[in-house]
Amino acid sequence: MSERPLSVRSKIALLRAKFIEQLPRRVEEALRLFAALRANPHDKDAAANLHRFLHSIKGTGNSFGFSDLGTIAGRGESLAGRLLENPAGASPAFWDELGEVLANINLGAEVIAEVGGYLAQEKEVPHFELPKIGDDKDPGGRLIYLCDDEALQVEQLATQLRCFGYVTITFNSPAELAAAVKVKRPSAIVMDINFPGGVSGTEALHALNQEIDEPLPAIFLSGRDDFEARLSAVQAGGSAYFLKPTHPLELVATLDELTVQKKPEPYRVLVVDDEPEIAAYHCLILQEARMITYQVHKPERVLEVLQEFRPDMVLMDMYMPGCTGRDLAQLIRQVPDYVGLPIVYLSSETDRKKQFSAMRVGAEGFLTKPIQPEDLVTAVAIRAERMRILRTLMARDSLTGLYNHTTTTQLLDSALSNAARHQLPLCFVMIDVDNFKSVNDTYGHPVGDQVLLALARVLQQRLRNSDIVGRYGGEEFAAILHEIELVHAAQIIDQLREDFSKVRFHAGDAEFSCTFSAGIAAFPQFKRLEILREAADRALYDAKKQGRNRVMTNR
Ligand code: GH3
Ligand code: MG
Ligand code: MG
Repeated sequence: MSERPLSVRSKIALLRAKFIEQLPRRVEEALRLFAALRANPHDKDAAANLHRFLHSIKGTGNSFGFSDLGTIAGRGESLAGRLLENPAGASPAFWDELGEVLANINLGAEVIAEVGGYLAQEKEVPHFELPKIGDDKDPGGRLIYLCDDEALQVEQLATQLRCFGYVTITFNSPAELAAAVKVKRPSAIVMDINFPGGVSGTEALHALNQEIDEPLPAIFLSGRDDFEARLSAVQAGGSAYFLKPTHPLELVATLDELTVQKKPEPYRVLVVDDEPEIAAYHCLILQEARMITYQVHKPERVLEVLQEFRPDMVLMDMYMPGCTGRDLAQLIRQVPDYVGLPIVYLSSETDRKKQFSAMRVGAEGFLTKPIQPEDLVTAVAIRAERMRILRTLMARDSLTGLYNHTTTTQLLDSALSNAARHQLPLCFVMIDVDNFKSVNDTYGHPVGDQVLLALARVLQQRLRNSDIVGRYGGEEFAAILHEIELVHAAQIIDQLREDFSKVRFHAGDAEFSCTFSAGIAAFPQFKRLEILREAADRALYDAKKQGRNRVMTNR
């Protein structure tokens, strides 16, 4: 029997129940501290502990919806702060005021304890609606319908698209296309403009879109370059307009834009808070918005966790035992790897001066507790996204968008550790375009770039999402294939080789194709990074020596 996963609201209700359960014991301890301080105002530890208690009740109380309790605790927090700074200055009036605050908290705690069972129920958790970050309807839809009455041409085009991982179905008339769309909606359609008997492709698409819920992403192919034809295509909802003969590569680039919705990786957020309930509460909210979270309750663990967890941003509490959030933020900033890591404070500190001072160590923002769940999700998503973009710029090659050499090597390193830890096979593939220099020499550098781009696309679209593809150098690529044996990897790469060799490139009036050679080596046969890389490189060298356009393995 499988249990139904708890909803975020019932998880928050559980945290809230825990807070309620622990409250009486904590208040008792606070009253004891108060008595001790009255006897000896110079007891620094007692003052610090009382201050921490009041600060914590302020934040937690507010976050869990006990705002009256939070407000009184906030008053107590500033009184305790004064005592910490100047114990000698505590007057009888001061003690009365602090005593009254604690009495009120005690009273509040008693009321909460009495109706605690009721308050801990899920329906008491405030309602909220979270945005789902990065939620998309149809990830990786690759089904394309092509419609053209020139059967041979459209088949050739479909063959090319299949090399790039598209699933294609061809139709020779708009009527056939329309019937198919109603049975299964494709990710996009590629449509001719003129059909025999004066049937117009644009009119046909327009009519079809009227009959279905959501317009189809469409690309028109046409022999006409005039304004009217282009206008009718736009008005029919066409996203692009290509003149015949169509260059498959350009078509692929446009189709990628129209259809590729690689599911974005969820954001990773590190939540630092010494109070487990509050850390858990914030994590739950972020998880509900499809983020991956990790909690740190002890500041001294932060470096180790940063290294392992690799967050996109850090949500940082301000007051913790042993060190402040400000100290911790500064410490993180001093590690070169984390100079750009966004750090956002989340604290009940409302003193602008203290907030400002905390920001000066290079933090990205200051959020105050209690925060509306929706606001927390938005604030975090904005910073995490920016981090993603910056990282992408640094980690990827600008021509192909693949991982650059440095990043590929780092990823291979961690993939190897992971494979060793879990005893899984792994293959490393080195790929090099054959006689590429002559492509450049014959057709020019920009055309050479098109070839590299096409190969990058083939590799990226055809390998699994979990596999890693990098541009290793000029016309050299590398791929890391997880959990796969050498023989199987060789079959896959060989299929890619064959498909790539079928891709037609165009340079002016000339048409040509290209091939690549590949070398593969596997873990655990080769265990260390350099050794594995060398083994793959030797296999590639063999492939070149034996005549190119082939895949070799190193056993
Ligand atoms: P082989 O089959 O032995 O690999 O021969 P090759 O001609 O492919 O190898 P070689 O290493 O002699 O030439 C590689 C060429 O790739 C030389 C270099 O100008 C070109 N190249 C490197 N990076 C780029 C790039 O980003 N764009 C273009 N268009 N060409 C590049
Ligand atoms: Mg080459
Ligand atoms: Mg080379």
